[in-house]
Amino acid sequence: MRRHWMCAGAALALLLAGCSADKSAATGAPALPSGVAFSGDRAFADLKKQCDFGTRQPGSPGHAACRAWLQKELEKTADRVFTHSFQKTLSGKTYTFTNIVGVYGDMSASPVLLSAHWDTRPFADQEIDPVKAKQPILGANDGASGVAALLEIGRMLKVKKPPVGVVIVLFDGEDWGKTPQQMFFGSTEFANNWKTVMKGVTSSFRYGILLDMIGAKGMAIPREPISEQAAPLLMRRIWDTARAGGFARFFPDRTGPAITDDHVPLIEKGIPAVDLICFDYPYWHTLEDTPDKCSAESLHAVGTVVAMMLYGEERTPRPVR
Ligand SMILES: [Zn+2]
Repeated sequence: MRRHWMCAGAALALLLAGCSADKSAATGAPALPSGVAFSGDRAFADLKKQCDFGTRQPGSPGHAACRAWLQKELEKTADRVFTHSFQKTLSGKTYTFTNIVGVYGDMSASPVLLSAHWDTRPFADQEIDPVKAKQPILGANDGASGVAALLEIGRMLKVKKPPVGVVIVLFDGEDWGKTPQQMFFGSTEFANNWKTVMKGVTSSFRYGILLDMIGAKGMAIPREPISEQAAPLLMRRIWDTARAGGFARFFPDRTGPAITDDHVPLIEKGIPAVDLICFDYPYWHTLEDTPDKCSAESLHAVGTVVAMMLYGEERTPRPVR
């Protein structure tokens, strides 16, 4: 296992202390409405489906094919789907990036923003072999896992609307470059322009939850410090919800490394956003980030907890900090 100092979106990872026992046990029934459940198997099939398109770095055939498929999948469940495309010229070549946005329910009372990145890294820079390090990654966990969980949550939202409106955004261009300045393109563009992109939706987001690298077998998500600072009360609610649902093993009561990821541009534009991420993944940014390293069980745990948060919301936003 290799130790990592950079994250999903990489950069600025400070190892912050903290280890305490995972002392919680299931303390109550999940607050999902009857007839609504998160299928880990269906989410895992969607993780594999994304990988079947091949590597999905911007400009690749897999990127184009996956984008079309994701849009169609969201259209099956969302009330409205928008795409938000923009271009960037990088190293002399112009790339088109596309965020894909699905809107569910009433947008008038501070919707919840759920997000994940759907692009994959153009190079496996954590590979030791320099030939391998130049090849693009499949991104089963780093990319596809969060998207898969959100597609399945979208199916739940179609079956039964929660008390709050929900916006699902699949960000492009998260993992493009080698420095933080060359990453997080989709989230940055969305954070800067969401009022235009959302076509008339002006009610600000009550909070955002970003899912990144949540599909690894046996994964556990510690509290991410930038998230903790941005929305401490929201973080507490998520961890309490996980414990109440019997998922404490996946949400241990400890602090992990600070991670620069797609939540940071959102926070900088005033959207209190948190990152659910397990960065303890030896295949990160390698050619080995493949579906066999992931599990339906991990997707089920995270997806169920996020869905419990949505169905447990009230129309009037509660404080997140
Ligand atoms: Zn990554």
